[in-house]
Amino acid sequence: MSEQPPPVLISETDIDKRVRELAAEISADYADKGNVVLVGVLKGSFIFLADLSRRLSIPRTVEFIAVSSYRSGSVSSGAVRLVMDVRGNIEGRHVLIIEDIVDTGHTLKYLIGMLKSHRPASVKTCALLHKPGSAQVEVPIDYIGFGIGNEWVVGYGLDYAEHDRTLPYIGTIDPDDQ
Ligand code: 5GP
Repeated sequence: MSEQPPPVLISETDIDKRVRELAAEISADYADKGNVVLVGVLKGSFIFLADLSRRLSIPRTVEFIAVSSYRSGSVSSGAVRLVMDVRGNIEGRHVLIIEDIVDTGHTLKYLIGMLKSHRPASVKTCALLHKPGSAQVEVPIDYIGFGIGNEWVVGYGLDYAEHDRTLPYIGTIDPDDQ
């Protein structure tokens, strides 16, 4: 691993500002919908979910789900496997999936289908980061923090082989250099 900290792509200040904006938008959209279930996708979304959930002004509960997306290094194979399902009953509830990043779209597409099988009232999606240039499948993203290029990002919950996950900002690394 490189000794140097990854260069900053999105600063702590910019993340904080955007998370507040997203929280305001989501709070307005769900104002009359009762208690919304935020489903965080482990591990990558844990910091985003913690910050976003505390800035919402609507009633909400938190669930977690874990998937493993098969990758060879930084390249997605498109195969997704459920590692941990939600524990609470989400039938008839409004569900908002909280993802760290949408790259090819395979993971989010799988998650939407999986959660719909629990018969919620609605399923919407929120991703902190989106790589529009890498999309392989069409998937609706209702709330997007930032669009980024086709680079590998770390920090604010995102890792490279478990490194750099708790960096306070979003940085870039070159997986070929690690
Ligand atoms: P997708 O199924 O959309 O190709 O990939 C989604 C998952 O791939 C994300 O939840 C994340 O785990 C991982 N991923 C995709 N791009 C990046 C990236 O640039 N950095 C990190 N840390 N993870 C990524």
